[in-house]
Amino acid sequence: MTAMHAVDVHSPRDAELVGWLPTATEDEVAAALATARSAAATWAAVSAADRGAAVRAGAEALRARASDLATVVETETGRPFASAREAVLAGAATLARYAELGPVHRGRPPLGTDFTVPCPRGVVVALTPWNDPVAVACRLLGAALVTGNVVVHKPSERCPHTGLLLATVLAPCFPAGVLQTLVGDGDVGGALVRADVDVVAHVGSTATGRAIARVSSAKLLLENGGNDPLLVDDDVDPSWAASQAALGAFTNAGQLCTSVERIYLHKSIAAPFLEALCQRAREWNTDPQPLVDVRHRSFVHAQVADAAAAGAHALTGGEIPSGRGAYYPATVLANCMPAMRIMCEQTLGPVAPVQLMSSFDEGLAEACSGERGPAATVLTSSMQHAQQAWRALPVSTVKINAVFGGAGGSDLLDEMTTTKVVHLGLPNGS
Ligand code: NAD
Repeated sequence: MTAMHAVDVHSPRDAELVGWLPTATEDEVAAALATARSAAATWAAVSAADRGAAVRAGAEALRARASDLATVVETETGRPFASAREAVLAGAATLARYAELGPVHRGRPPLGTDFTVPCPRGVVVALTPWNDPVAVACRLLGAALVTGNVVVHKPSERCPHTGLLLATVLAPCFPAGVLQTLVGDGDVGGALVRADVDVVAHVGSTATGRAIARVSSAKLLLENGGNDPLLVDDDVDPSWAASQAALGAFTNAGQLCTSVERIYLHKSIAAPFLEALCQRAREWNTDPQPLVDVRHRSFVHAQVADAAAAGAHALTGGEIPSGRGAYYPATVLANCMPAMRIMCEQTLGPVAPVQLMSSFDEGLAEACSGERGPAATVLTSSMQHAQQAWRALPVSTVKINAVFGGAGGSDLLDEMTTTKVVHLGLPNGS
């Protein structure tokens, strides 16, 4: 039995080693998959109501341990305790929602005497990222488990202790083998996705999603990185709009999948908006949150430096601070242009790059271009512009006049199940 290797976790605050864990061996990966396969039929046969009750128990257990989880999230990823706790509670709320939705999840309406029933797909491999580790895991795990699938979860190697604590809290709510967690990096993830499993659910970077698609023959659920735009129309209060932009760009140091990544600002309100945004950024910098590690900080700063070299102007921030830890200041970049990497690619850092637009239509066209994000936000007083935007933007969630919000519903339950048609005849042939 050969150990693949160990994952070390360093504090984002001071780079000290805060823990390490051995990664799962090839034998452990194989054993977990065999256990999952043998538990699948029994769990699938449990009534939907009882599966919902187990997921609800998981939600309650998570709520009870929210502070413990938040402490570990803070240690491993640098997210401040209060914000990390809120995110854990959001994960518990997601589990509670799936506990309700699962038992009422139905097939399509009947056609004559035929009807459809949703059936679990079987073994689900869930691969989750570091940037919102508990809430994202709860979404995949809740939807998979409540619909009767068994799960092998591999949390990010940047927060393996978070993943293991989540397993300690949730797994006892289910029969043995229904929810298992393995520690490891992309090698362990690679071994899982190449195996004979039914679903691979990956939330993470676009590059990893593409790599998985090349090697896995399972049904793929890929929720990957994006480049979420924010459009600021000319008819909104610039100071309020700047607060929204700051919240979207700087919360969790810009490391949320729905963080504001690029801003299209109507030029008629540029001066007061930028002034207010810089003020917010400076306030943010009085209580700085580190990025997840210095490797990621280098990635963020490279995009800022590229933009500056191409003519962008850092109104505030934009420099790596001296001292230990992976800190990076909330940064406002003016004079951004479409070809800059900062506008075309995901940054996942506390940077608000601003490009001016002469008209709403021009900004909307820019926002619709480039890498698709999971979400987009529009700040406008015009219902016509709001409607135009939610029709055109090629994203899963469009948020009007609020940078955060929008909960996924039963779509993931559909994805985690197959639909079986039952043709129901009478035994006498009539
Ligand atoms: P990542 O893709 O590097 O890692 C995610 C998971 O995949 C980890 O568990 C990792 O070990 C595993 N993995 C890595 N390489 C693999 C491989 N070759 N085969 C199988 N598994 C592999 O992503 P990350 O850096 O941890 O997360 C940040 C990214 O996640 C950002 O791009 C962010 O936007 C995205 N994200 C998206 C959403 C969404 O809902 N769309 C939500 C949260 C995060």
